[in-house]
Amino acid sequence: MTVSSDQPIIDLRSDTVTTPTPEMRRAMAEALVGDDVYAEDPTVNELQAEAAQLLGFEAGLFMPSGTMTNQVAIAVHTQRGEEVICAEGSHIYEWELGMMATFSGVVPRFVPAPGGVPDPEQLRRAVRRSIHQSPSGLISLENTHNKAGGTVLPLEVIRGAREVASSEGLPLHLDGARVMNAAAALNVPVREITQHFDSVSLCLSKGLGAPVGSVLLGSRAFIGRAHRYRKMMGGGMRQAGILAAAGLIALREGPAKLQDDHRRARVLAEALLNAGHDVDLNTVQTNMIYATIPDAQTHVDRWAAQGLRSSALEPDRVRFVFHHQITDELLERAVAIVGGQAS
Ligand SMILES: *Cc1c(COP(=O)(O)O)cnc(C)c1O
Repeated sequence: MTVSSDQPIIDLRSDTVTTPTPEMRRAMAEALVGDDVYAEDPTVNELQAEAAQLLGFEAGLFMPSGTMTNQVAIAVHTQRGEEVICAEGSHIYEWELGMMATFSGVVPRFVPAPGGVPDPEQLRRAVRRSIHQSPSGLISLENTHNKAGGTVLPLEVIRGAREVASSEGLPLHLDGARVMNAAAALNVPVREITQHFDSVSLCLSKGLGAPVGSVLLGSRAFIGRAHRYRKMMGGGMRQAGILAAAGLIALREGPAKLQDDHRRARVLAEALLNAGHDVDLNTVQTNMIYATIPDAQTHVDRWAAQGLRSSALEPDRVRFVFHHQITDELLERAVAIVGGQAS
C-alpha cells in the first residue's frame, strides 16, 4: 500500500476507530476510582447514573462492549429454549457470534425489516405460544439499524412494538448502540425513543467517541440481575473509572457532534453517486453509507492506497462510517478520492 506520508489517513471503516481526545486523556488520568465489582467506583457510578437519567431509566451498568450489554440483557430477559424476536440482520445475532445460543440458550426469530424497519404486525405474528414451538421470550429492536445502513426507526413503529410487547407480555429490548444518532436524526430528546423499552444498550465507543465501553439501562431490579451475568462473562472490571471518565465526556459532548457526522455522510454519499456508484440515498439517514459496488474489495484497496479506508463487508457492499475525527477538510479529500480527482 502506498500512502503518501504528508496526508492523514481518512478512516471510515467504523465509528469505533476514534482515539480519545486530550480532554478525555486528562479526565482518565485524574479519575477517582474504586473497585467497581463492589460498586465502589465513584466515576463508574456517576456515568451509570447520568446515562440512566439521560435515557429515562432507574439504573445503568457499565460494561466493556455493546456485545456484552446486549447479551447480558438477553440473559436477564429470557429462559433457555426461548426465541428472541428481532429484525432480520440484527447485530445481536449477525455480529455477536452466536452468543445468544451459547450463553443464554435462546435462538433468534427474524422478522422482515425492509430498510431496517420491522412492521409491528409482523412482530406480533412472530410470537409463539404453542406447545409444539419454542416460546417467545423477548422482542429486540435495533436503532439505528447497522446492517440496513444506519437507518432510523420511526417513532410510530417503536410505539407499535411497545404495544405488541405489552399485550403479549414480553419484554422489549433496544440495541441502541447508536440510539444517539437516531435521536440526532429525528431531532428529539433520546428519551422519546428509549422510554418505550424495558432495557437499552448504549455504546459510548461508537460515534460518541469514548475509547471503550457501553452502558446497559433498565429498572433497578433488572440491573441488579444484570450484575451477575456481567460477572459471569468476565466483565467485572475493578477500577474501571479510568474508562468511565472518558465515557462521561463522550456522553456529555458526543451527541452534539452527531448531526455534523450525518451531514458529512450525506456529502460523501452524493459524491459516490456522482462517481457512478450505487448508493440508495434514502438509507443514508445518519453517519453511515452502504454502497453496492461489484468487486468491493478492489475498490476498497484502491481507495486505501490513496489514504481512504472503508470496509468491504460483503463481496459487493462497501461501508463508510463517519465520526467526529473526520473534519470537513478530510471529507473534502475523501470526496476527491472517490471522485478519482485526488492528487
Ligand atoms: C457496535 C455495535 C454493537 C456492539 O458492538 P461491540 O463491538 O461489542 O461494542 C451492538 N449493536 C450494534 C448495532 C452495533 O453496531
